[in-house]
Amino acid sequence: MTASTVPSQPTRFEYAPAPESRSIVDIAPSYGLFIDGQFVDGTGEPFKTVNPATEEVLTEVSSGSAADVDRAVAAARRAFTRTWGPMRPSDRGKYLFRIARIMQERARELAVLESLDNGKPIRESRDVDIPLAAAHFFYHAGWADKLDYAGLGPGPRPLGVAGQVIPWNFPLLMLAWKIAPALATGNTVVLKPAETTPLTALLFAEICQQADLPPGVVNIVTGAGDTGRAVVEHDDVDKVAFTGSTEVGRAIARAVAGTRKSLTLELGGKAANIVFDDAPIDQAVEGIVQGIFFNQGHVCCAGSRLLVQENVHDEVIASLQRRISTLRVGDPLDKNTDLGAINSAEQLARIRELTDIGDAEGAQRWQPACELPEKGFWFPPTVFTEVSPAHRIARDEVFGPVLSVMTFRTPDEAVAKANNTTYGLSAGIWTEKGSRILKIADQLRAGVVWANTFNKFDPTSPFGGYKQSGYGREGGRHGLTGYLKGANHS
Ligand code: NAD
Repeated sequence: MTASTVPSQPTRFEYAPAPESRSIVDIAPSYGLFIDGQFVDGTGEPFKTVNPATEEVLTEVSSGSAADVDRAVAAARRAFTRTWGPMRPSDRGKYLFRIARIMQERARELAVLESLDNGKPIRESRDVDIPLAAAHFFYHAGWADKLDYAGLGPGPRPLGVAGQVIPWNFPLLMLAWKIAPALATGNTVVLKPAETTPLTALLFAEICQQADLPPGVVNIVTGAGDTGRAVVEHDDVDKVAFTGSTEVGRAIARAVAGTRKSLTLELGGKAANIVFDDAPIDQAVEGIVQGIFFNQGHVCCAGSRLLVQENVHDEVIASLQRRISTLRVGDPLDKNTDLGAINSAEQLARIRELTDIGDAEGAQRWQPACELPEKGFWFPPTVFTEVSPAHRIARDEVFGPVLSVMTFRTPDEAVAKANNTTYGLSAGIWTEKGSRILKIADQLRAGVVWANTFNKFDPTSPFGGYKQSGYGREGGRHGLTGYLKGANHS
């Protein structure tokens, strides 16, 4: 064979679409609130939830008024005093195991519904969100009858009724982070899902019915910010647990200050992902991609600030651009899709506004050639180089597929730049030196530090922030303390 007859190497693999069927999901034309074990009509103005990939209206959902929240809190209080509170801890554990198993049995249905309502790729809802949500229930089921031996002090007791409000980026997973520890420690809950992603929480309510969970132990009240406010400000709520933006977290902290309520806040982030010149560059590039493009960058702990040692900057950026050019953006239900849709028109507008500011402030925008669907909310993977720490895209949480790249020369400079943020949720370190990992991790003011990996989650591992990323921990033994009276918080 002469050189001219050798077939050229394909530069791009074409994939035939491989869509997951949505027929497994049955979406009703409308949904009520889940209060005291029953679906009931809300008295607020109902709202529609759409598929962000197509703008198709999926269904209409009830909006909980203050009166509805009051009914839900009363149901939770009754369940706390009459059934769930007095129940033997080992029996509570059995309910949690049952819920976890049903979630596994209905995993495909939950995954498809999550991708339809949220826009995230089915690969992520199927392989990450839903298995982790079930794992949270399994893990906490195990704790239910072992709290006396958890080293949390003598006889830890539940707080009572927990009012919980969650965001739209990991709808079912955030529900699991909230409900599993609350129930395992003997509390009852009123949970408000985000207004753009209420559907898996409503399917979870059906799972509670299927598991014969006593009425009132879990109540799901859908609605927007006003419904959330009614939950956190209700006088008969003993514990408030919030995950969402720093702005709303601040308002909640003000509302709860001076009351007897216990509060945990999981807020925003602007994580530094630090790449040293001795790091295995190919693995680091995979970690950078995973760190910022997982879930379209709608991740509180996303590695949105890349800090690269100056002498490997060009090599890392060239390799990163090559890798990003292979990402497939499109139909969330297609099993080949890497990046799905942006969750809402509002979020897309925010991403556009902040990236436009990035251009105006002098950073260099790079985006791969990439065809975006005509309908729905979409934003291509984006990298900004020549970013200075003063730029808005280096300081503000974009909450989208947008990476800001900065450089450093020495480890001290890397730490100073990484900590130069009002947030402190997570960080990443890439280096082959174990001693450097330990030294740098110790200096980073972040709740979670990943080394030579990124965005790894496990129910046994506590998660939470410093500074404006919030306070309290979720997951692990530490996460139990936020739901117990007299628990030793060490
Ligand atoms: P958001 O703060 O706008 O809304 C979060 C929830 O709060 C929603 O259910 C909303 O309806 C409700 N809400 C709004 N106003 C309220 C009020 N005054 N009182 C009570 N509830 C109110 O946040 P979002 O846009 O849904 O989510 C994105 C944010 O969540 C990002 O900042 C992200 O970093 C953060 N987040 C943090 C974590 C974490 O663990 N730290 C995890 C996921 C998301």
